Amino acid sequence: MLNNLIFVLNCGSSSIKFSILNPNTKKKYLSGLVECLFLKNTYIKWKYLGIKYEKYIGSHVSHQDALNFIFNQVLSKEKNIYDNIIGIGHRVVHGGKRINKSVLINTEIISFIEKAIPFAPLHNPANLIGIKMVMEKLPLLSNKNVAVFDTSFYQKMPKTSFLYAIPYIFYKKYHIRRYGAHGISHNYVSNQASIMLNKDFNSLNIITCHLGNGSSISAIRNGVCVDTSMGLTPLEGLVMGTRSGDIDPSVIFFMHQQLGISINTINTILTKESGLLGLSGISSDFRYLEKNYSTNEKAKLSVDIFCHRLSKYIASYMCLMDNSLDAVVFTGGIGENVSLIRQITLSKLCLIGFKIDIEKNLSVKNGKSGLITINNSIPVLVIPTNEELLIAQETMKIVS
Ligand code: ADP
Repeated sequence: MLNNLIFVLNCGSSSIKFSILNPNTKKKYLSGLVECLFLKNTYIKWKYLGIKYEKYIGSHVSHQDALNFIFNQVLSKEKNIYDNIIGIGHRVVHGGKRINKSVLINTEIISFIEKAIPFAPLHNPANLIGIKMVMEKLPLLSNKNVAVFDTSFYQKMPKTSFLYAIPYIFYKKYHIRRYGAHGISHNYVSNQASIMLNKDFNSLNIITCHLGNGSSISAIRNGVCVDTSMGLTPLEGLVMGTRSGDIDPSVIFFMHQQLGISINTINTILTKESGLLGLSGISSDFRYLEKNYSTNEKAKLSVDIFCHRLSKYIASYMCLMDNSLDAVVFTGGIGENVSLIRQITLSKLCLIGFKIDIEKNLSVKNGKSGLITINNSIPVLVIPTNEELLIAQETMKIVS
């Protein structure tokens, strides 16, 4: 029977993901994705009760236009599920300094999310558009909107991890610190790892690698996240699709003072034109880079730099594990599907106890989970992430 359905909306900077599911039975009735907002061709894909649909929506489509399409052309046509929604869960990237857990959205929460825009300038504004549109489109459920924050998972990080070595006043007075992101995914796969390893979550020591368009890595000791690679904003850390990740801050001074590039343009370069796209000069899409790894020098270089940085982070997070690491977990579009990345990265870590099983590594992809190492290695698991389910479960707890 169709009841207790949660509508989950993940309104990202250039894409919108949505789904309707029952968090208790985990059954997903509808899921969809709008990609390439503000670009030449925007398409929507959705799946309703197992049947797939795809439609061109237009060119340079905004979040509002795409959400109008979702409500008017997709959701309202499926009355039987639409009428059974009891709550809406919104993914919000940054809760700022005030919010540390999932919350029912009201005007005060909206203003906190607005205040946190400088910490997630690409994401929070898009998240807010989604929240406001849903409140307008579903007025009867306007007090059933829940914000689930990526930053909540990092609330217990110690000061040794979250403080930058800059004058303390910048933390005390201006709240400049490391906040982390992707917490919903790291949280979900950690819980799954505890089930797969048959180990109590509160004594679990793992390192989780979420590798997608945005990538991050978290160290979880005794079930608590003790460090993560994203910082004040989701720009710090690993090499990403179009984001640089870690750089010497002096690169910015050099670009500005020596090359005369404006601060706004440098921001665009580091967030939208760097990472795999900037290095390869062709694409941020791993499907392309993987296919051309052996034939295109720049594709190879960008993949090798990606793995070099990832392996350094994994090795450094091992020193936070109290001498016992239960597993490393790979997730996200790249972590779940690209065996090449897992193989290159783990081969650099052979010395500290990682031994890949080549066959298993090649076979675990396309939504499968499993172990990809041999018996006497530190276990490495691939676990498909399911951010929607965690958001729906959090939402259900709050609205009911
Ligand atoms: P987001 O951060 O937008 O949620 P995803 O987790 O969907 O990103 O990951 C997107 C990345 O994963 C892209 O680089 C894409 O090329 C890569 N990817 C997804 N599926 C595959 C696949 N089957 N093979 C290779 N790369 C893949």
